[in-house]
Amino acid sequence: MKKYNSLQEIRILIDQKKVNLTELLDYYFAQIEQFKDLNAFNEVFFDSARNQASEIQEKIGNGTAGKLAGMVIGIKDNICYKGHQVTASSKMLDGFVSPYSSTVVQRLLDEDAIIIGRLNCDEFAMGGSNETSYFGAVKNASDPQRVAGGSSGGSAVAVQADMCLSALGTDTGGSVRQPAAFCGCIGLKPTYGRISRYGVIAYASSFDQVGTITSSVGDAAVLLEVLAGADDQDSTVSTLPVPSYSALMTGDRKYRVAVLKETLESEALDPSIKEAILKSIEALKLQGHTIDYVSFDLLDYLVPSYYVLTTAEASSNLSRYDGVHYGYRNTSAKDLNSLYKLSRAEGFGDEVKRRILLGTFVLSAGYYDAYYQKAQKVRQLIRQKTEQLLDKYDVILSPVAPTPPFKIGENIEDPLVMYMADIYTVLASLAGIPAIAIPLGNNQEELPLSLQLMTKHFKEEVLLNLSENFLTSSSERADN
Ligand code: GLN
Repeated sequence: MKKYNSLQEIRILIDQKKVNLTELLDYYFAQIEQFKDLNAFNEVFFDSARNQASEIQEKIGNGTAGKLAGMVIGIKDNICYKGHQVTASSKMLDGFVSPYSSTVVQRLLDEDAIIIGRLNCDEFAMGGSNETSYFGAVKNASDPQRVAGGSSGGSAVAVQADMCLSALGTDTGGSVRQPAAFCGCIGLKPTYGRISRYGVIAYASSFDQVGTITSSVGDAAVLLEVLAGADDQDSTVSTLPVPSYSALMTGDRKYRVAVLKETLESEALDPSIKEAILKSIEALKLQGHTIDYVSFDLLDYLVPSYYVLTTAEASSNLSRYDGVHYGYRNTSAKDLNSLYKLSRAEGFGDEVKRRILLGTFVLSAGYYDAYYQKAQKVRQLIRQKTEQLLDKYDVILSPVAPTPPFKIGENIEDPLVMYMADIYTVLASLAGIPAIAIPLGNNQEELPLSLQLMTKHFKEEVLLNLSENFLTSSSERADN
């Protein structure tokens, strides 16, 4: 059982003086110690978090504390926090100290969230099981023999095992939603361009987005309110005003929901996930939402176009790690070329190298038109088709992942199996639309199950509202 499920719950206890921030932080430190074998944290920020706790407690006392006072949050280890290490879970950046804070970290600090540490992830966020991390796999708290999901595996397990209240992750093709699903948490990937990526280590820049992993929908809403919005440091962020998501979360609206038929008919879908989703669809109908089963004929093209485009972008983004500017450097090289080669050969892990090679290939003269440009066109089609669907429906529903968390070591040797498992999450990434993973309880093996909802660009409030209503009424049903 988790001790605290939402910021709101903690704030009541703080205001009633039943707990202070130092005690709260000590509770989370003790949890981190107890669950250290799960390998969720790359580093705990004991000193800076303790300092923050006493400063913020004082602000609470004199009534000047920010909106996130009481929130203890972990950040994925690809998000920069001034004066703290950031490694992207790669040997390439081991020991690198960030000279500045990302916009997301600055916004958390400005609203008095306590940043408790940096969380393990797949190397440079490339992976779906957290097994590509230089610092080793993260273990799922439901069954430590199983993966946490990825790439934000540490973020998900830290929230799952109550080592912090919430966590930031990044989602390029599912890296917030899939680990959240594997760990029974709520994972929100906002619209592409909703949140600044200044100070977030790039993987594939036309996809990357910061997202949140939480135990309550309310925390996802309040975090989005703080994190979203224009940023002078990142020209890709939308200047659209940021709604008051937490206020819009309540209210009993009825939605038109499109279920992607083929995603449920697929043989690859685990029967326990299918059953849980079919039950949820019935529950949504009972709540007065309209459900239609619709066909999406581009499903087979999602994974190939995602991997052509993201590896191309990754090969370009990762060219900056050359052993000269920053990060790992080979010390025996005799000339510049071998310094580049040896530093990159020794600093990057296998999966990162595979993607750099693949990306360089699809961008190379002679293949550019056949692969990269074609994938761009396919992406455009996918986006159009998705938008057409969302003209008729408010929400698209599908699974998050084809299976519950699998065993550590089971799939990692077969990259294609790993890539195919991203089939349901990459749609929202290719189309740039917001998506949320919400928990559906456990299957008979006590493994978490989950459901994905997607909606129109910049309509995160629809996802938050529907998720909150759905989860509240499911827990009421479970109580009766
Ligand atoms: N599993 C996907 C990949 O390996 C997603 C990663 C991500 O969203 N960062 O690319």
